Amino acid sequence: MLLKTIIKKIESKYPLNLAYDWDNVGLLVGDFDMNVEKVLVVLEANEKVIDEAIENNIDLIITHHPFIFKKMNKINTMDLKGKLIHKLIKNDIALYSMHTNFDIAYDGLNDYFMKLMGFENSKVLEVTNTETLYKLAVYVPTTHIDKVKNALADAGAGHIGNYSHCSFSSQGVGSFKPLDNSNPYIGSLGELELVEEVKIETIVPQRILGGVISSMINAHPYEEVAYDIYKLENKGNSVGLGRISKLQDNITLEELCNKIKEKLNIDHIRVVGNLNDKINKVAVVTGSGADMFKKAKRSGADVLITGDMKYHDAQDALDIGMNVIDCGHFDTEDIFKDAISIYLDDIKGIEVIKSNINLNPFKIV
Ligand SMILES: [Zn+2]
Repeated sequence: MLLKTIIKKIESKYPLNLAYDWDNVGLLVGDFDMNVEKVLVVLEANEKVIDEAIENNIDLIITHHPFIFKKMNKINTMDLKGKLIHKLIKNDIALYSMHTNFDIAYDGLNDYFMKLMGFENSKVLEVTNTETLYKLAVYVPTTHIDKVKNALADAGAGHIGNYSHCSFSSQGVGSFKPLDNSNPYIGSLGELELVEEVKIETIVPQRILGGVISSMINAHPYEEVAYDIYKLENKGNSVGLGRISKLQDNITLEELCNKIKEKLNIDHIRVVGNLNDKINKVAVVTGSGADMFKKAKRSGADVLITGDMKYHDAQDALDIGMNVIDCGHFDTEDIFKDAISIYLDDIKGIEVIKSNINLNPFKIV
């Protein structure tokens, strides 16, 4: 599959414009027109990861942390990053990074963390964007109304609040003249054709627009499908950093710590707060989210689960009576490999491999 096709699919669900301005996401090294068969997913890329990719004939590495972050004025082998970029290009390996756009997006890293922990009905902790909505209008011959409507709904179009399959249909007459080299489903070359058609209109959020259009075209009988896409002023669901969820049963802070250790398969986490506190509402920010403890407290959370808690932030959290669980930056984000693999596994024609390199710079002794 062409790299640009894979990127189009990824970015229809995890658009680059969700990322913070300071971030650096997207295709950082590579040729959009190259063919990709094998993909390596990993938290970040260092020389060991690139060597692992070369050994496994990988065409594309997908990382969470941006491979290129600081501005570079030259790319040469005297500099470590330059050497790695040179190695990637020499070995025909592309590198794509999805960072804060993947943290923020629906079904991204924070949502994966919530599902892994069994925290249900989570909401966004800090709203950063509101989803852009589109109106999709497609003209369908009367024989294929149900088929196209079902394809649109199955791909996720037509959701309004707690209602699915929302659409509006109006009847009319479509006209077209098939030209040379066309292969019309209805009509003959060079003759003006009039066909009873129905215009189906439905609403589609940006993140699934690409998939909805593909499904619609597959279900439609015409060689050239006539459709319109309008950007709407109506706003869709909010997306943003972190998640917050109300637990079904209260548990103690200590029980919650043990649950996290088990689910993340780690032996050691740091906790700020009273281990006997009853926890009813949890906030999660994967990676470096410790500075959001006040926001989590204001949102009614009893605990913030995150990484990278600094000493003075820990003191401040204690002072305002906020519990914080610091699972470590690495351990809240190494699950990126699992989270993105679930999505990529649905893309036919590529093999996805999770990196075996241990990237945690810390050891517990
Ligand atoms: Zn991170």
